[in-house]
Amino acid sequence: MDRKLVRKGILFVLVGPTGSGKSTFCTRLIAENPDTLQYSTSATTRPPRPGEIPGKSYHFMERDEFERRRASGEFFETEETHGYLYGTLRSSLENGINAGKDLVFQIDIRGALNFKRHFPNNTVTLFIIPPSFDELKVRLKGRGTVDPEELQRRFTTARDEYEALLQLNGDPGKVDYLIVNNDLDEAYKTVRAIVLAERSRYLRIDRASVEQFCEIPS
Ligand code: ADP
Ligand code: 5GP
Repeated sequence: MDRKLVRKGILFVLVGPTGSGKSTFCTRLIAENPDTLQYSTSATTRPPRPGEIPGKSYHFMERDEFERRRASGEFFETEETHGYLYGTLRSSLENGINAGKDLVFQIDIRGALNFKRHFPNNTVTLFIIPPSFDELKVRLKGRGTVDPEELQRRFTTARDEYEALLQLNGDPGKVDYLIVNNDLDEAYKTVRAIVLAERSRYLRIDRASVEQFCEIPS
């Protein structure tokens, strides 16, 4: 008999300041696990950066379209950051769940806590931080995607996110993991290990599927 553990899907939520490495980790994770992990593409009103692929990086839309779809209940959650609207479409969640895959999100801390509230047993939050603020600046400039004003806005948001992170210290079930993205390969190893370990959490494993393994002939 082909025995297989069956478990509930996991929502892996990557949080952290712009430039901390969320996209880099997501891309690696999905490339390594194409059959079992799916990226949840968010919607946003911000313009695409060079190299971003519409429909893959984000569903880019004008503010009026975003607002109309929000009013008609198409979003699971939305937030405004740096003057732009961002949100998770219910369809992105459902597509992943129906495909039987775990989902990966890149959203802000408020969105992440929203997921924790709605799906406390299924959401795993990973907070990614760069080794220093100076290094974050270097990486953002290296990515070459934001003008100085935009950069300033993002630093303000980063401060807010750090404040939220510090406030949540010691608060169980909010931020599950903190990863300092210094050496990329080392940090990625940790992210990968978290995904593997979380997939073995007994909490999410279906009892009937465990019973098959626990049969002992009398
Ligand atoms: P985010 O998605 O959080 O905004 P990115 O994944 O786009 O961040 O990373 C920002 C930039 O920093 C990218 O150019 C990426 O290649 C680079 N980067 C990410 N992690 C590291 C690292 N550990 N060392 C050096 N550069 C990195
Ligand atoms: P960026 O413009 O750098 O891609 O993203 C800016 C911020 O918006 C990041 O913190 C990112 O994680 C967050 N973000 C992206 N998509 C969503 C989303 O669907 N919901 C929420 N709440 N935040 C998002």
